[in-house]
Amino acid sequence: MSAHGPAPFSPSAPLKLFNSLTRQVEAFQPVHDGEARVYSCGPTVYNYPHIGNMRAYVFADILGRTLSFKGLKLTHVINITDVGHLTDDADDGEDKMEKMARAQAQSIWDIAQHYTQAYWEDVKALNIRQPARWTIATEYVPQMIAFAQKIADKHCYELDSGLYFDVSTVADYGRLARAQTEDGEGRIEAVEGKRNAADFAIWRKTPSGEKRQMEWDSPWGKGAPGWHLECSVMSGEVLGFPFDIHTGGIDHREIHHPNEIAQNQAFCCTNGLDLPANSGARVWMHNNFLVERSGKMSKSSGEFLRLQLLMDKGYHPLAYRMMCLQAHYRSELEFSWDGLAAALTRLKRMLISVAQLKERVGEGEALPGPRFTPFLERFDAAVSDDLNTPVALTVFEEVLALKKIDPAEKLAALAAMDTVLGLDLLKLDRQALRIKPKGVAIEETEVEATLEARKAARAEKDFARSDALRDELAAKGVEVMDGDPLGWEWKLG
Ligand code: AMP
Ligand code: ZN
Repeated sequence: MSAHGPAPFSPSAPLKLFNSLTRQVEAFQPVHDGEARVYSCGPTVYNYPHIGNMRAYVFADILGRTLSFKGLKLTHVINITDVGHLTDDADDGEDKMEKMARAQAQSIWDIAQHYTQAYWEDVKALNIRQPARWTIATEYVPQMIAFAQKIADKHCYELDSGLYFDVSTVADYGRLARAQTEDGEGRIEAVEGKRNAADFAIWRKTPSGEKRQMEWDSPWGKGAPGWHLECSVMSGEVLGFPFDIHTGGIDHREIHHPNEIAQNQAFCCTNGLDLPANSGARVWMHNNFLVERSGKMSKSSGEFLRLQLLMDKGYHPLAYRMMCLQAHYRSELEFSWDGLAAALTRLKRMLISVAQLKERVGEGEALPGPRFTPFLERFDAAVSDDLNTPVALTVFEEVLALKKIDPAEKLAALAAMDTVLGLDLLKLDRQALRIKPKGVAIEETEVEATLEARKAARAEKDFARSDALRDELAAKGVEVMDGDPLGWEWKLG
C-alpha cells in the first residue's frame, strides 16, 4: 500500500445497545476505557445444542465482532455449565447432567466432555470466534463457596435441602424480569420452607444417605453449587465487577439473570444494594428465540434440530448463520427449511459475485477507497444501531453490486464488513458450500465422470443420451446446472 493510498476506515458511529435492565437503547459506555468485557451464559452440556441454542452464540459473536470493529479491546467469556442446572426452575428438579449420565450409563465427566466437544464443533462450523476464555463451572467450585460464604450471613438461610438466597434482602428484585417478588405469577415456589416464592438455592446439599456423582464439601455440607451462583462467580472472577455486557437467551431474563443480579448486588454491596450500579454488568442483553411453527424449539419433541441435521440434509452451516443475521436478534425467528434454503441461496449469490471480483484482482493488498466511505459509514451505522444485521447485509450487497470500480478496493471494503458478519465470504468458495447430504451414495468422482460422458454426448449431438445421464444423476441426488461454472450441486435433502 502506498503512503498516499486511502486511509483505513475508522468506524465512528456511536454504538447503541438495547439494555434489558432499562428496556432502552443506550449509548455504550465502556467501564474501562477502550475495552469491552462480555460474559455470555454458555450451554449446559447434558445434550447436543439445538440450533436455537446456537442462535444465542451467533448473537454473542456478532456483538463481540461489532465491539472489535469499533476498535474496542474485547474480552469475551463463555461458560460451560457441567453441574448445577436443574431440570426444574423450582429447585426441586434433578441435575440435568446427573439425569443424562444415568440414562446413558456413563460418568458425568464423560457426558460433559462429549457434549462440550459437540458444542465446540458447532461453534466452529458457525464461524463463531473463540472467546478469550471458556470457563468450566466445575473448575470454579472453591470460588463459588467463597462467594456464597461472603453473602450467606446477610442474604441467605439454610434449609435441609440447601442454602437459599432470600430475595427480599436486595433492592428491586426481579426488575430485569419486570416481575415483583410478591406477584407469585411465573415465580417459583416448590421447596417447602422458603421465605419467599422466588428464593433460590445457591448451594444444594446432597440428601443424607445419597451420593451424587458430583459433590463437594462446603460449610453447608456435601453438595453442589446452584446454577445462578456459577455465572455470578465466573463472570466476576474473570471480568471483575462491574463488567460491560452480560448476554443470554430471552428465557434467562426471567429467572436466571434476575437471580444472578440479586447475588451480584449482595456481593458488591459496599456501595449499597441498588440497581443498576450493583447488578454486576452494566448492560444485560438477550436474544429472542428461534421457534418452530409448532412452538418452542425442543430437544425432546419432534425433529431435534441440531446443526448436524442441517448438514445431513445438505445445508452448509453458514446458511444457518445467514438465517440468524437476516433477523434482528431481538425478534423472534421462525425456523423453516424454505427459509434456510433461501438463506443458502443468498449466501451463494454473494459468493458468486465475490468469486468474480477475486478473479479480476491481482496480487497485493488494498484499502477501501473514498468511494466506499459512505457505504462503510452506513454499515457502521447499522451495526452500531443495536446490531442491525439485516440492514448491514443489504449494505454489503449494495457494495457487491457497484459497477466500474477498482475490484481490489471493493474487495477490501467487503472484507472490512465481513469482519462483523463473519460469513467468511472472502475465503469460502461455492464448492466449499457443497455439502453432501447423508444417504447420498454417489461419489464426487463418479459425478464428474458422468458429466464428462454427458459433455461428450452433447458434442456428438446425442441429446437423448445427455438427458438420460442428467436424469440418472438427478435420481442419485445430483442437480446438473448447465451454464453455471460450478456445474452441479447436491440436491438438498
Ligand atoms: P441452555 O444450554 O439450555 O442453558 O441454553 C443455552 C442458550 O440458548 C441460553 O442462552 C438460552 O437462553 C438459549 N436458548 C435456548 N433456547 C433457545 C431458542 N429456541 N432460541 C434462541 N436461544 C435459545
Ligand atoms: Zn448463566
